[in-house]
Amino acid sequence: DSKDYDSETESVCPFCGVGCKVSLKVKDGKVKYVEGINGPANEGRLCVKGRFGFDYIHHPHRLTKPLIRREDAPEKGLNVDPGNLSTHFREATWEEAMDLAATKLMALREEDPRSVAGFGSAKCTNEEAYLFQKFIRQGFKHNNVDHCTRLCHASSVAALIENVGSGAVTATFNEIENADVAIIIGANPVENHPVAATYFKQFAKRGGKLIVMDPRGVGMRKFASEMLQFRPGADVSMLNAIMNVIVEEELYDSQYIHRWTEDWAAEKEHLRQFTPEAMAPICGIEPDQIRRVARTFAQAKAGLIFWGMGVSQHIHGTDNSRCLISLALMTGNVGKPGAGLHPLRGQNNVQGASDAGLIPMFLPDYQTVTDDNIRAKFNNVWNSDDFSNEKGLTVTEIIDQAYAGNIKGMYIMGENPAMSDPDVNHARDALAKLDLMIVQDIFLTETANYADIILPASALYEKNGTTSNTNRQVQRVRPAVAPPGDAREDWKITVELAQRIGLNWDYTDVSEVFAEMKLTMASLDNITWERLEIASITYPSLSETDPGQSIVFGDGFPRAGGKAKFTPASVIPPDEVPDAEYPMIATTGRQLEHWHTGAMTRRSTVLDAVEPEANCSMNPRTLKLMGIEPGEMVRLTTRRGSIEIMARADRAIAEDMVFIPFAFVEAAANVLTNSAIDPYGKIPEFKFAAIRVEKI
Ligand code: SF4
Repeated sequence: DSKDYDSETESVCPFCGVGCKVSLKVKDGKVKYVEGINGPANEGRLCVKGRFGFDYIHHPHRLTKPLIRREDAPEKGLNVDPGNLSTHFREATWEEAMDLAATKLMALREEDPRSVAGFGSAKCTNEEAYLFQKFIRQGFKHNNVDHCTRLCHASSVAALIENVGSGAVTATFNEIENADVAIIIGANPVENHPVAATYFKQFAKRGGKLIVMDPRGVGMRKFASEMLQFRPGADVSMLNAIMNVIVEEELYDSQYIHRWTEDWAAEKEHLRQFTPEAMAPICGIEPDQIRRVARTFAQAKAGLIFWGMGVSQHIHGTDNSRCLISLALMTGNVGKPGAGLHPLRGQNNVQGASDAGLIPMFLPDYQTVTDDNIRAKFNNVWNSDDFSNEKGLTVTEIIDQAYAGNIKGMYIMGENPAMSDPDVNHARDALAKLDLMIVQDIFLTETANYADIILPASALYEKNGTTSNTNRQVQRVRPAVAPPGDAREDWKITVELAQRIGLNWDYTDVSEVFAEMKLTMASLDNITWERLEIASITYPSLSETDPGQSIVFGDGFPRAGGKAKFTPASVIPPDEVPDAEYPMIATTGRQLEHWHTGAMTRRSTVLDAVEPEANCSMNPRTLKLMGIEPGEMVRLTTRRGSIEIMARADRAIAEDMVFIPFAFVEAAANVLTNSAIDPYGKIPEFKFAAIRVEKI
């Protein structure tokens, strides 16, 4: 009851890319209750994370004072007790910490500006992401700035920009109400986008044909009319076989292809070799089912394709997305109601942070850093000298350069590479080598263990600004409570640091940052701060009264000539394949209760109580063969390292696979993962590693 609370504030859930709108009920300075309200993506719904994952913001581990590494601190490593930081750090005033951070950054810049790199965050607002990339580009004159999109949908974005000219979704997930068929591939929305999953389930219950494709028998299979549990890493062979059927049976949409695409002849020719019979042994799907699925999708009036990390996190992630784009284009399923391409975004603001330019090859709105006119436009707005026209280094490249000693200083805002990077022991060693590491965060994350200076920052429910969800919906976030102690909003920290390293920044309100973004970002045309006060707006918004376009590209693509393009994809094997020493396949991901590296959800009372222990899942038959009872501990070993973890039985896992969530530091999945990257999206192959399982 509203009379039980001192205040109620509308904001957006801080976890996944669905972007559910919430009302935060506050009593005595603390958020006590979270309720779903009528946002465009959730219509009042929330999942367990949104509903119960909020009290981490009041956790005693919150950082409340700037910290400086003690001179007598033990050697850098993952060795700080988050309940007792004084062994490694001493408290400092903001004045002292900022002065030290700025002095050291300027000293590195003097020596070599490229010795400094930045990781921003998809957990921060659009304005904070924009300021962070500007900090590196204007302050250090290069583009070595990136964030977790590199570990998530970088390959999807690479393929989308290449083939349709834009990295965002072409249709909101709510468009499923106008579809008659939908493919969900390499995604587990029941656990990772639970509110979106409720719309998908409703679609299936209404009689919509749901085709689920995944090496794991994910939760959506219960609602699927077709479940294709294909061999891990065999996506291209299966998708090409489906498209082969469409070509051979002439089920493609000739009119659409002729009007809106190019390079069809080469694609069509390329696909002829991928017959269902030839591909079945590779992908493990029977030719009959491949044919049935091809016909169902091609003959539908409108079809949507959703995909997740299962598609993107491979060394052939860009090829996987190219196939999905080709499938949509050849069947005319872009730019009309109920049709489109939708990579389901992971983090709450990974879409917005990418749009805001927090990526090494693109400025805001995916404008390339290599174009002199584009840089001139930004330099004009920033009142600044030019910066490098070279594409910057990506997340894993920056870590490699830190390991090699070429990058000596990093400013890390809200990212946790000491948990999230592939082959994480290598990443931790690289972080330990840095001369200067400035970490801005709300907790002493695993990454902050290696910091020299720690700046206490704000949780989303303490922030003012905007975020953009998977649907391209720009939404206001508002502070329900103030950051604890001396902690500050992230944008204010970045502004002060920028001023101290000599940049001409004079923002006094976050809305001024948004106003500056609009000067270079056409995607924000007609979207004003005032309008966002009242409602969420989907970009593009075509007029000052248009709530935004849920479907785009009905009248052409943002590419030269207005046409989309087919890019053929060939079958390539994963970077490492199982052998006698490592006979099984490891794949990683999230689980319903925990978010990414666990910093927030493992400090949320209810979520941590429901899922307190590091676990992996294997097929019950595999466990039985190995003499392992569910609940017993196993040792998992790959070429990179070894962890000990509790084993669970799950029939949905193939008999030669192990699924490992990556939220648990005590059994960090990324100790095991392979850092081999996709050559286009530069995304690591988190979804495939050869592994050995042993009973302990
Ligand atoms: Fe939050 Fe995503 Fe759950 Fe919505 S579906 S409540 S955005 S975690």
